[in-house]
Amino acid sequence: MNKEIPYKIYLEENEMPKQWYNVRADMKNKPAPILNPATMKPITVEELSPIFCEELAKQELDETTPYFDIPKEILDFYRMYRPSPLTRAYCLEKKLDTPAHIYYKFEGNNTSGSHKLNSAIAQAYYAKQQGLKGVTTETGAGQWGTALSMACSYFDLDCQVYMVKVSYEQKPFRREVMRTYGAKVTPSPSMNTSVGRKINEEFPGTTGSLGCAISEAVEAATAQEGYRYVLGSVLSQVLLHQTIIGLETKTALDKYGIKADMIIGCAGGGSNLGGLISPFAGEMLRGEAEYDIIAVEPASCPSLTRGRYAYDFCDTGKICPLAKMYTLGSSFIPSANHAGGLRYHGMSSIVSQLYDDGIISARSVEQTDVFKAAQTFAKVEGILPAPESSHAIKVAIDEALKCKETGEEKNIVFGLTGTGYFDMVAYQKFNDGEMSDYIPTDEEISKSLAALPKVEG
Ligand SMILES: *Cc1c(COP(=O)(O)O)cnc(C)c1O
Repeated sequence: MNKEIPYKIYLEENEMPKQWYNVRADMKNKPAPILNPATMKPITVEELSPIFCEELAKQELDETTPYFDIPKEILDFYRMYRPSPLTRAYCLEKKLDTPAHIYYKFEGNNTSGSHKLNSAIAQAYYAKQQGLKGVTTETGAGQWGTALSMACSYFDLDCQVYMVKVSYEQKPFRREVMRTYGAKVTPSPSMNTSVGRKINEEFPGTTGSLGCAISEAVEAATAQEGYRYVLGSVLSQVLLHQTIIGLETKTALDKYGIKADMIIGCAGGGSNLGGLISPFAGEMLRGEAEYDIIAVEPASCPSLTRGRYAYDFCDTGKICPLAKMYTLGSSFIPSANHAGGLRYHGMSSIVSQLYDDGIISARSVEQTDVFKAAQTFAKVEGILPAPESSHAIKVAIDEALKCKETGEEKNIVFGLTGTGYFDMVAYQKFNDGEMSDYIPTDEEISKSLAALPKVEG
């Protein structure tokens, strides 16, 4: 018998996980190795070290250690905003009149407004440990840049952020939060770097892309003594740090004897999804349990559902290592009317492999439907969700409505990755009825896929 389940399942501080979980250790089919773009051979820690902090380079390449201790300094920081509650969405269930039980793990309880702080603080910590002066990065919608600027200011590190131009212009308030935390914010493509100048020349008037901002940030890191590049998604190290989400979720569910049937997360580069599902996917990989795990992506940037599983560059400038992943091609840039975030061309290599092996499935959704779901959720659950998170809300609602038809009492868990207070330009478009759905044509996708690098094997 279940105990009566409260609206919010809180964990005690001492129930917060003290280790991150590396799901690669339990994967029989490991993600393909990342390649050095210069040699096209699997990259080594030494080769990664000019770009990444050494400890993070080690985490990136480690596919056998199942658990990593979370350093005390990081745990102390986590305690400022964690453990995060797992909420039973009683009001949403009532509104939908569904027999399903809906739970969401809320990661928006910090100034950055998203889960990104979980990895930002880890990456800033390792940079500080290594005695670096600062870090460079890119940011799309701005959550990662905000999270990193918070983490860097905590450890007194310099923070340089290349922000995708369209967001820089649409989201001046995020920019100012970053500057308040002491970060230097540059719209990308900029004229500061050679790769930025080249992209500006080739695509005059471009509003930028994440891949392009990554190239600029990497170049800026390698051009300055005592700087390294850090990335807020896609990488296996980021996914590792984000497993704090899934581990806490599992602890909270176990506390009340709840067995999740379905776990849903939005997928941009795959870090929150990977972090949320890792402990559950681990159980599946070890043959201990079954779950229905769903990655939700925008129909306008459908890397899992319409991309190809192939080696690709992680950045438009083709200077980062290559990863085998579900990708639309590194030259793919989502339509300018896409407002829902999750605009990265590829997907975490771990998530890609789990998807290829059928451990998880994927669905794409259109943005007006996503914003409708966001509005439904906001009205009954009292949180204005980030557009990204609302992709997961949309599918959770769809699934809860299916349960209404079938009468199934499924336990549906989804990741509510953040709040949408800085996404008001997108909400405005939606409210004004000016939001449209753009789905790329097969030709457009084939065109960017045709430019995939040729890699043996
Ligand atoms: C960055 C972000 C995402 C997408 O990134 P993933 O690496 O796919 O998790 C989702 N939701 C929010 C609120 C974000 O800030």
